[in-house]
Amino acid sequence: MPSRPPSNTDVPALPQQEITRIAEMRAVHSALLYLHNQEMEFRRWQRELTEIAAPPFGEAARSEWLATRFTAIGLESVHTDELGNVFGLLRKIDATPGSDSMIGMSAHLDTVFPLGTRLETREEGNRLLGPGISDNAAGLVAILAVASALKRSPLALATNVVFIGNVGEEGEGNLRGMRHIFASSPWQNSIQSLLVVDGAGTDTYVTQALGSRRFEIAFRGPGGHSWSDFGVPNPLVLLCRALARFSEGAVPDSPRTTFNIGVMHGGTSVNSIPEIATARVDLRSASMRELYKLEERLRECVSEVWSEVPLAYRAGESPGGSSKVRFTIESIGDRPAAELPESARILKVVRAVDAHLRIKSIPRLASTDANVPLALGKEATTIGAGGDGGGAHTLREWFDCTNRDLGLKRILLTLLALTGVNE
Ligand SMILES: [Zn+2]
Repeated sequence: MPSRPPSNTDVPALPQQEITRIAEMRAVHSALLYLHNQEMEFRRWQRELTEIAAPPFGEAARSEWLATRFTAIGLESVHTDELGNVFGLLRKIDATPGSDSMIGMSAHLDTVFPLGTRLETREEGNRLLGPGISDNAAGLVAILAVASALKRSPLALATNVVFIGNVGEEGEGNLRGMRHIFASSPWQNSIQSLLVVDGAGTDTYVTQALGSRRFEIAFRGPGGHSWSDFGVPNPLVLLCRALARFSEGAVPDSPRTTFNIGVMHGGTSVNSIPEIATARVDLRSASMRELYKLEERLRECVSEVWSEVPLAYRAGESPGGSSKVRFTIESIGDRPAAELPESARILKVVRAVDAHLRIKSIPRLASTDANVPLALGKEATTIGAGGDGGGAHTLREWFDCTNRDLGLKRILLTLLALTGVNE
């Protein structure tokens, strides 16, 4: 009898026993052996990928590489959407007829490195070096490796799997790839759970999606000469006043909430009153409520400082200029906060797999592609691709392949427990 396909309402008891049952299957042993034996091929893939530039909004060449690989390993319905997200379907005969529910497994294609960055890789023993080699070439290799192992295996999955290489995870990408998948892809409703693979390691799993909201604040005024127009409100001063007032407010330790003023611009010369001053502010919290509270306070501080400017300047009736003193607050980033409930099946599965593999893992609060499904109330988590890594987002990034096996085993067992499987 096929094991039941998982869903939020249909929770098989005792995931621990289920993991033991899966791990003992002969075909699972063969799949793990295949993963072990392919290590040299995985290194080649990883280096090849790393050397293909994939800055935010410039992932096309990498999308193409992945689509070619997906096709080569035999995934079905391989295609790339208008943003550059790449999909490949693993259809297994045992999938419940008529059910279109599936499990998603994803890794982001983009890197933080701008076009023109030297993307050379090298190998020192078990260590691979290169910008993006771990974040997220390691994750992409992991999903390819697992897809390839399952494709050639006789294992009968009870649920189909869609493998995804998505764009837009890093920085200004603002999760645009994942947002698009859950807003307007053909699978937006059928993906029941999403397993995201990002970076190296086996020691964590994400249970809380760190939310962030980012703003660009601008104060504008008539500007003028430092001597002859003295007294005209100075946008730089107004901006600093608003930000200083905002910074003096308290934020809770739990749920952890933070803010940062990261960039300021303004002014043309030392003897000019600036016409514009801008700042970029980053607000983060594990709680959407705290995030909105913080945003409200930011807006209050800005409008309060503006309201203290003499009315004549605010109305643009002041001497020396018709330009009004005004402000704008523009959203430049928005990642939802969310939490995986303790009762989530994906959480029980990951914990059971880790217990089975004797991995001492810890839950993590992070901003990853899992934010998007989590905020929609779907089950999702982010785990590492195995091995070890460091220097993320720097040119000195490295990945140590020594324990990749363990990470791939963890991913494979988790995926099989999510899909339901029989020999
Ligand atoms: Zn990443």
